[in-house]
Amino acid sequence: MDLLEYQGKQLFAAHGIPVPEGRPATTVDAAVAAAEELGYPVVVKAQVLVGGRGKAGGVKLAADRDEVVEHATAILGMDIKGHTVHELYIEAASDIDEEYYAAFVFDRSAKKPMAMFSKMGGMDVEAIADEDPEAMRMLHVDPLLGFQDFHGRRLAFEAGIPADVIRPVGALLAKLYETFVAEDAMLVEVNPLLITKSREAVALDAKVTLDGNALFRHPGSADFGDKGAADPQEQMAAERGLTYVKLDGNIGILGNGAGLVMSTLDVVAQAGGSPANFLDAGGGSKAEAITQAVEVILSDPKVKAVLFNIFGGITRCDEVAKGLIEAFSQIQPEVPFVVRLNGTNEEEGQRLLAEANLPNVHTETTMDGAAAKVVEVAKAQGVAS
Ligand code: GDP
Ligand code: MN
Repeated sequence: MDLLEYQGKQLFAAHGIPVPEGRPATTVDAAVAAAEELGYPVVVKAQVLVGGRGKAGGVKLAADRDEVVEHATAILGMDIKGHTVHELYIEAASDIDEEYYAAFVFDRSAKKPMAMFSKMGGMDVEAIADEDPEAMRMLHVDPLLGFQDFHGRRLAFEAGIPADVIRPVGALLAKLYETFVAEDAMLVEVNPLLITKSREAVALDAKVTLDGNALFRHPGSADFGDKGAADPQEQMAAERGLTYVKLDGNIGILGNGAGLVMSTLDVVAQAGGSPANFLDAGGGSKAEAITQAVEVILSDPKVKAVLFNIFGGITRCDEVAKGLIEAFSQIQPEVPFVVRLNGTNEEEGQRLLAEANLPNVHTETTMDGAAAKVVEVAKAQGVAS
């Protein structure tokens, strides 16, 4: 799970990393109120889950109230690389002497966390790598020993930063590692790591990715993320505990098991269709879960046809049929369905569907046949509508 800058900074502050004082704001009025509280000058910063906000005009210095109004108005609603700005962070402005780069990431091949540090901060990490690959200093951290003082000193010496800031930078790195471990993060990045005019080290930006599978250990972090940007179908699916990913096509897909759903997407694409989503109803899905899944799929207005591809193992085909029949009684879908039921209780499932005689539901026996059929009926829908 990716965190907005100010959410990452909340975690940083909780672990003793120096960050400028700031307040989130979702309206121009709230931005002004925050700035008045902090005192001028402030920085108005777009809160979106993408880097390069500065270059895109999403980070602006404001010397007074009028400038806060001007920048907050311009930045709220702005599109930054496809991300709409729903929220701002108003932060006390900092005096910049130098900008460094610092991060901890997992190096999966080494099975260890890796520290990264460069004195060329502020710009994209890719740009640093392009400009001078040697400028990025890296070292692995033994997870049992942790990040030691000598690690910090070594990175600082190798990167060639001035002697007077080695100590504050080392201290910040140690706390950053502590944050990385304690919060079950996959990535913590500080770019720029700022050296102020008074030669203090401060985290001026924060990019934090938490391990979603460890969230149960961090109930306080559950509300993080960019709520305003959540896709309505994905949000609906998450609330129902379904594994759903929105895609940009028009054929709704439901299957059981991630592998089967992935191959269903491929087969539909091969048949000339374009899937609208990935939805794994999971193993052992009961009728109610199927009904809820159908609601999520159909809430996407682009969907012109739906394909059910069920391979019954733990999942029973009769339960899937019951769920589909229930969905039809509750929501009367207007788009055609193609259903392929194969495996456990297949005959019972087919019998229930035949008995229910649902309008516009086609059954197929093979995956290829079902894919071809759903592409055909989706195209016919396109022509009709
Ligand atoms: P990013 O572009 O999305 O990485 O956003 P950052 O938070 O890193 O900000 C981009 C740049 O804006 C920084 O590298 C700084 O040069 C500048 N900046 C951000 N905050 C301040 C501030 O308080 N004072 C000054 N003078 N510049 C700032
Ligand atoms: Mn940055």
